[in-house]
Amino acid sequence: MSRTSRVIGSEHVEAVRRSGRVRLEILPDDIVTDLARETAERLGIKLVVGPLERPLPKQVDGGAAMARGLYRRAPRWIAARKAEPRAPRRLGKLGLIGAGGVGANVAHLAAMSGIASEIALTDIMPGLAEAVALDLNHASGITGTSTRVLGGMDLALIEGADVVVVTAGRPRTPGMSRADLIGVNARVIELAAEALKAYAPDAIVIVVTNPLDEMTVEMLRATGFPRERVLGMAGTLDSSRFRNALALAAGVSPADVEAFTLGSHGDEMAPIVSRARIRGGPLDLYLAPEQVDACVKDAITGGGQVVALRKTGSATLAPAHATVELIDHIRGARSGIVPVSVMLEGEYGIDGVVLGVPCHLGATGVLEIEEIALPEEELAALREAAVAIGKRLGLK
Ligand code: NAD
Repeated sequence: MSRTSRVIGSEHVEAVRRSGRVRLEILPDDIVTDLARETAERLGIKLVVGPLERPLPKQVDGGAAMARGLYRRAPRWIAARKAEPRAPRRLGKLGLIGAGGVGANVAHLAAMSGIASEIALTDIMPGLAEAVALDLNHASGITGTSTRVLGGMDLALIEGADVVVVTAGRPRTPGMSRADLIGVNARVIELAAEALKAYAPDAIVIVVTNPLDEMTVEMLRATGFPRERVLGMAGTLDSSRFRNALALAAGVSPADVEAFTLGSHGDEMAPIVSRARIRGGPLDLYLAPEQVDACVKDAITGGGQVVALRKTGSATLAPAHATVELIDHIRGARSGIVPVSVMLEGEYGIDGVVLGVPCHLGATGVLEIEEIALPEEELAALREAAVAIGKRLGLK
C-alpha cells in the first residue's frame, strides 16, 4: 500500500529535540525543507533514512497479568518477557586465540550451547589448547552437543572463522592496574593480528585482552580491519556487575534490573544511572542515593575485587558469559542495544578513541552506534574517559 509523503519542517525537528531523542527518521517519499535541515544541524539531530528496524515490542505475560487483576495479593510487578530470538544463525567456526581462564570458559559456554559447528582454540602454551579441546569433546557424550572443538599452538587453526575472540595475554595480579599490561599485551595483540590477516581476514574480532580499550585500538591498527569488525568486550561484563549490585541492594532478581555502563573498562567506567530501571521504574523508587553510589562503585571495582581474592589472575566466568553475549548479538540470538568498545568517529562528540558505547550488532559486526540522550554529567564522564584513554595512547 502506498503512503502519502510528508513535508518535514523545522517543527518536526524541534519536536524530536523536545522529546530528548537525537534522530529523526525520514522515509523515502518525505520532503525535507531546507529550514528543517538547518535546524537539525544546529540542534545536533541526525536525519536518518528509514524505515529503521525497530526492536520487537516487549511482551507481557498475559496469564500473570490476569492473575494480578483477579487476586489482591498477586505480585505488583510482572517482568517483561524478553523478545523471542529471531532464527539465530549458527556460526560455522568460532576461533579463540588464548585458551587460558577466559578463553577456555568461552569455549565451554559456546560448545555447551552449540552456537558454532566448530570451535578452534589456540594458545602458545604447549599442550594447553589441545587439553582444553579434548576435555570439552569428552563432555559431549553427556551434553550431546554436535560442536567439535579443535585445539593447538598453530594459529592457522582459526582459518575461515566467522568470529575470533582474542583473550591471549597476561591478566592482572594484585596491585596491578589494567593499564600496567599495555606493553606486554600490545605485542601479543600484534601477533594475533598477523594471524587474523592471514587466516581469517573477514572475521569479526572480539578483543578481551586488557587494557581493553587500548588493546582494541592496537588490534584495529595492526589488522587494518574496519571499525565495524573490531569490537572490545567490557561493557557487557561491567553492565552485568552493575545490574548484580543493584539487584542485591534492592532485594530483587537481576532479571528485574535494566542497566548498563559505558566509557572505559577501568577507573573511567561510566555506569549510566539515568537510564537504569528496577522493575521498570527509576532507581530512587527502590534505593537511596548512597546505595546507588555504592552500586556504581561496586561495578567499577568488581574486577579488582576478584583479582584481590584470586591473587594469581583475574575473573574468568563472568567475562566468558559477557563475551558469549556479544556473539549472541552478532548471530541474531539477541537484539537491542548492547555496550561495546568501538572506535568513535564523532559519535557523542568524541573522535579517534575506542570507548564503550551502545551499539546494535549483527552478522557484519557493528550495525549502528546508538547516540542516546544523556544528562550532561554522564556525557562529561564519557568525554573524560575518552581524554584519559587518549592520553594513555599518547594521542593528546
Ligand atoms: P590467562 O593467563 O588465564 O590466559 C591467557 C592465555 O593467553 C595464556 O594461556 C597464555 O599462554 C596465552 N597467550 C599469551 N600469549 C599468547 C600468544 N601470543 N598467542 C596465543 N596465546 C597466548 O588469562 P585470562 O584470565 O584468560 O585473561 C586473558 C586476558 O583477558 C587478560 O589480559 C585479562 O586481563 C583480560 N580480561 C579482560 C576482561 C574484559 O572485560 N575485557 C575480563 C577478564 C579478563
